[in-house]
Amino acid sequence: MLETLRKIVQEVNAAPDLESVLDVIVRRVQRAMRTDVCSIYLIDRQRERYVLMATQGLNQKSVGQVSLSLDEGVVGMVGQRAEPINLEDAAVHSAFTYLKGTGEKKFHAFLGVPIIHHRTLLGVLVVQQKLIRKFDESEEAFMVTMSAQLAGVIAHAEATGSILQISDHTKTESDRKFEGVSGCIGVAIGPAVVMTPLADLDGVPDRKIEDVKAEVAKFKSALAQVRRDIKRVGRSLAKRLRSEERELFDVYIRMLDDNALAGEIIAHIKEGSWAQGALRQVIGEHVQQFSMMDDPYLRERATDIRDLGRRMLTCLQESGPSLSEIEFPENTILVADELTPAMLGEVPTEKLIGLLSVHGSGNSHAAILARSMGIPTVMGVVDLPYTRIEGLNVILDGYSGRVFVNPSEDLSQCYQDIIREENEVNAGLEGLKELPAETTDGYRMPLWVNTGLITDVARSLERGAEGIGLYRTEIPFMIRDFFPSEQDQMETYRKQLEAFAPRPVTMRTLDIGGDKPLPYFPIEEDNPFLGWRGIRVTLDHPEIFLVQIRAMLRAAEGLDNLRIMLPMVTSVHEVDESKKLIAQAVDELREEGHIINQPLIGVMVEVPAAVYQVRRFARRVDFISVGSNDLTQYLLAVDRNNPRVASLYVPYHPAVLKALQFIVHEAHKENVSVSICGEMAADPGGAILLMAMGYDVLSMNATNLPKVKFALRGISFDRARELLNQIIVMDDVDKIHMMLRNTLKELGLGQLTRPAIPD
Ligand code: PEP
Ligand code: MG
Repeated sequence: MLETLRKIVQEVNAAPDLESVLDVIVRRVQRAMRTDVCSIYLIDRQRERYVLMATQGLNQKSVGQVSLSLDEGVVGMVGQRAEPINLEDAAVHSAFTYLKGTGEKKFHAFLGVPIIHHRTLLGVLVVQQKLIRKFDESEEAFMVTMSAQLAGVIAHAEATGSILQISDHTKTESDRKFEGVSGCIGVAIGPAVVMTPLADLDGVPDRKIEDVKAEVAKFKSALAQVRRDIKRVGRSLAKRLRSEERELFDVYIRMLDDNALAGEIIAHIKEGSWAQGALRQVIGEHVQQFSMMDDPYLRERATDIRDLGRRMLTCLQESGPSLSEIEFPENTILVADELTPAMLGEVPTEKLIGLLSVHGSGNSHAAILARSMGIPTVMGVVDLPYTRIEGLNVILDGYSGRVFVNPSEDLSQCYQDIIREENEVNAGLEGLKELPAETTDGYRMPLWVNTGLITDVARSLERGAEGIGLYRTEIPFMIRDFFPSEQDQMETYRKQLEAFAPRPVTMRTLDIGGDKPLPYFPIEEDNPFLGWRGIRVTLDHPEIFLVQIRAMLRAAEGLDNLRIMLPMVTSVHEVDESKKLIAQAVDELREEGHIINQPLIGVMVEVPAAVYQVRRFARRVDFISVGSNDLTQYLLAVDRNNPRVASLYVPYHPAVLKALQFIVHEAHKENVSVSICGEMAADPGGAILLMAMGYDVLSMNATNLPKVKFALRGISFDRARELLNQIIVMDDVDKIHMMLRNTLKELGLGQLTRPAIPD
């Protein structure tokens, strides 16, 4: 059964459009289950009805014609109950409605299972038989498995279908909505530019070309290059290979013949596709065909074709314009399968207004960077057929995490109004720069910033930051090709320290691993967030740690505003070892003649183990800083990067709030100051609660700093305490959110909460 399932899913995956997807499903399921009928009813959202979309066994003419309301018939019941319904004779069931024109009168046995994707009901998959009999358990299990596996493919095909209609101009406006999660608040409207990592065949976007001749020539030259490469590799390996292995190279060359792959690709180019898109399509089709073959030898050929495709793509990409030569349109919305911090630097800042990532969540590092740059961002739009939206107009709603492709005039107008309101709010906040973050009853709250890029520094100072609470040193490491030297690092760090002196600058030691790999230091792990990350890596590589510490100390010479912070600490040994290495670096530099003052040293509390050792850490260091992004992830066991569980990642979860309060109390027992540098501090509601808990410093992205200052200046410390006391005993996250929002509104701070967005 597993093999049948695998094959059906594979074939369905290879189908080019929704109609073929549904057609394959009904044919294959009917055959596999040996039933008389298999049909799919999908929900038409506009009409709020099930429509018979495909059938094998019922009258074909009724496809697209027959429909039922959502509470009608046994099909409606399957959807409402969200569970399978298995009847030996559906016709006698009280809910049964006969669907005219389908010819279903002669069928009795009925098994219907809901098709659900991410909690959304898409439709119902039904099998029927003439016999009066109940489907057995294994048949029911097969249908449930089938439907669960196919739901994602159907959702994707539906989405792609509507996008294709738009790009083919068979549909002019759509308001087609895709759900993701917020990466950075704000709204952006502009054309999509799809960016793909090199040699990623599946990620190549559709693009139309005018000059067919030039495109064919470009393809032919890439082809010639690949042929030459393969021949060369074949020759150099000839002596070491057996004859049948040598033949493989000839097979490769033959596959590239004009009447094989190359011919098909050229045919697509002649229809107006750019060479890379034509290549993706042809290679994709062949890979699918081979991977469905029964013979394992032939199945393996799929890998060869994929490899050939990748080689040709590399050649095409090398001959195409480099990223820096691409003319980005005004108001570019950058779209990527997986947005990386490095990609953000590829588009000229004056042209970039929005970011959209199919993978990753609001707590991914790319999103954190986007926030520091203040670029509206939506992450985790998993159903977006992103390779098909190049050049289409997009509304990106960073408040609700929604994306609309090719929106209507009305919707665009609505969002234009929101952009205008936003600009007004921001203009109103500009006057706050010189004012302190002081509550209405005179409680003073230091507001610091998180930085990573050198551009953050200017923005932070412009917005009145009083220090740097977190300088993510891994960011300059990530945008290079190898580890920066001590001198390089020193120069980079000096810029941050100098710009802020005499204000304090907290430099975190290299926090790589997790979702922050270095291209030149790959770490392959099954569970990277539970693996070799942060301090674990640097203590295993003292040569990297020491160089970094020496660079920091040298950079601070004469400025003395350096604080060194250790990430991902779980035990006191890590603190002791790190302190020893820092002391060694201080001694060495002094011996070398530098005038080095002992920097302040701090520990980040980011994992549950650290929460319960805060006092022990506090006795060993000068300050504690809470990394609430990771702490939330580890306390709730929710991957901060995984869009599937993004809705479970809630910093206002009662457990997180309790932990945050506990940390401050514990640290203060040792008279050690505690700051927080997770994203929660950047939320006006969060900042109020953290102040009330007793946090000594709030550190946040520069973009949100004015809003947080505005919120703190609009509330009294007593009122904040009262709010905290109410919230800390609540056990429902939604109610906590609601209370925070209502309180902000009551205080006249309503404009800091999300603007009303049309649903
Ligand atoms: C955190 O985990 O809260 C934090 C500030 O560090 P990062 O987001 O860089 O992991
Ligand atoms: Mg962290």
